[in-house]
Amino acid sequence: MSITRSESIPPPQGLVKAYGQWIDGAERYTPGGKRLTTNSRWTGGAVAEIAAGGRADVEAAVSAASAAATGWRELKSGERGRLMADIAHGIRAERELLAELEGAEAGKPGPQASREVDSAADYFDFYAGLANIPSGEVIDLGPGRHGYTTNEPYGVIGVITPWNAPLNQAARAIAPAILAGNTAVVKPSEFTSATTLELARIATEAGLPNGVLNVVTGTGAAVGQPLIEHADVRKVAFTGSVQTGRAIGRTAADRVLPLTLELGGKSANIVFSDANLRAAAEGAVRAFTGNAGQICSAGTRLLVADEIYDEFVSLLLDQVRTVKPGESYGHIVTEEQFTKVQKYFDVAKADGATLAAGGAATGDGWLIEPTVYTDVTNQMTIAREEVFGPVLTVLRFGTEDEAVAIANDSEFGLAAGVWTGDVARAHRVSARLEAGQVYVNDWVAGLVEGPFGGVKNSGYGREKGMEALRHYTQTKFVVVKL
Ligand code: NAD
Repeated sequence: MSITRSESIPPPQGLVKAYGQWIDGAERYTPGGKRLTTNSRWTGGAVAEIAAGGRADVEAAVSAASAAATGWRELKSGERGRLMADIAHGIRAERELLAELEGAEAGKPGPQASREVDSAADYFDFYAGLANIPSGEVIDLGPGRHGYTTNEPYGVIGVITPWNAPLNQAARAIAPAILAGNTAVVKPSEFTSATTLELARIATEAGLPNGVLNVVTGTGAAVGQPLIEHADVRKVAFTGSVQTGRAIGRTAADRVLPLTLELGGKSANIVFSDANLRAAAEGAVRAFTGNAGQICSAGTRLLVADEIYDEFVSLLLDQVRTVKPGESYGHIVTEEQFTKVQKYFDVAKADGATLAAGGAATGDGWLIEPTVYTDVTNQMTIAREEVFGPVLTVLRFGTEDEAVAIANDSEFGLAAGVWTGDVARAHRVSARLEAGQVYVNDWVAGLVEGPFGGVKNSGYGREKGMEALRHYTQTKFVVVKL
């Protein structure tokens, strides 16, 4: 499919770059090896050519990561922290290039791509700040014994990322994993690998020892699967679809391989009648249109109290009219996903939902109008399945109990929102929601500092915040007879 650029945003210039694998601190090319090309969603032109790697590349990368593991874990954590800060600095110094590549491959408007680059740097800064926090505890065993715990790195961590926020998701996993003393082999999405490869180069130039961070590009079957199967990979952090998460889980079960799974969502956003309705309408639109809805924690089930339903839907639609596809958000990242989103327009119609806004592709390329369905019930397919596009379903509720019951009636449990002026209700409802994170009178999925992850089919384990460090270490209990 050929794409012409959207008029509102200048196209990225001169971006065709060729990459090898990043293994042991250097770019490696396999002579005659297969290549893949990634394209710009704005211009339709090529952005990057990457290696279509395979088992041999995984073997080389894991071997480099294993060789680097002992030296890296034995470095004082303050030294590792200093390197994290240097990597953050390196990312910021190359903000323009990274934002251009990210914007081109992942269809993001310039300001959004730049914010995501900043946030990738923020992860390294945040974990740099945690480097010297004491870890472990002394355990009282009486006068005859001394007991204590240490938090030890696993060794080699496999990181597998999707295409919706590639640099950000790579940084989110890599920064805590390596600060904790692990080494990493990263497999980015085959559609959006450029910025993860650039990150590995930047980290090496910032002084990260060779082998601590390796990137192997290629498809899930050719690279992801051998990475999970590799005996020297001691933990895998996966972000992606529920379907792939399940497949990885089956392989991991045979290996007794620990996983962090960050999967999909159909997050409920509840608006009570005592809320600031204008703020709630603005937040609700941000929650489902950010990154063209290609965010696992997008708020895509809006639950509105009966008594304010009509008034609120009117405010919501006013707010939706201010959203400009191609400026407020960018393109759907892959053609397959672009087609999938449009299929859900037929699904919603067959469900009997009322189309209140959007419902079509727009402009050039893979842009989708912000789409709102009203008169939705929680049994409809459009309210149950993750669309991963800018598509909102609006449901009604009567009582607080009913709101909680509808919100929790989902296979997913990633994020949830509560809009209310009643502080007691805010806490009461937050406590009852089955979700990894709850936003009260806000929708703030991008925070670096707090733990992030799901319950139910949205996955398990936590990324971000202090909590992520615990997920990249194992506790050892040492007892000494005195
Ligand atoms: P995907 O599951 O198709 O692919 C994710 C990654 O897994 C890619 O790198 C892919 O190449 C790799 N992969 C595919 N098959 C594999 C296999 N058999 N073994 C190992 N690796 C394999 O997901 P996607 O389509 O790239 O991303 C969209 C999905 O990701 C959505 O469902 C979304 O909700 C989810 N997501 C979740 C989060 C989160 O933090 N919870 C964040 C972003 C996206």
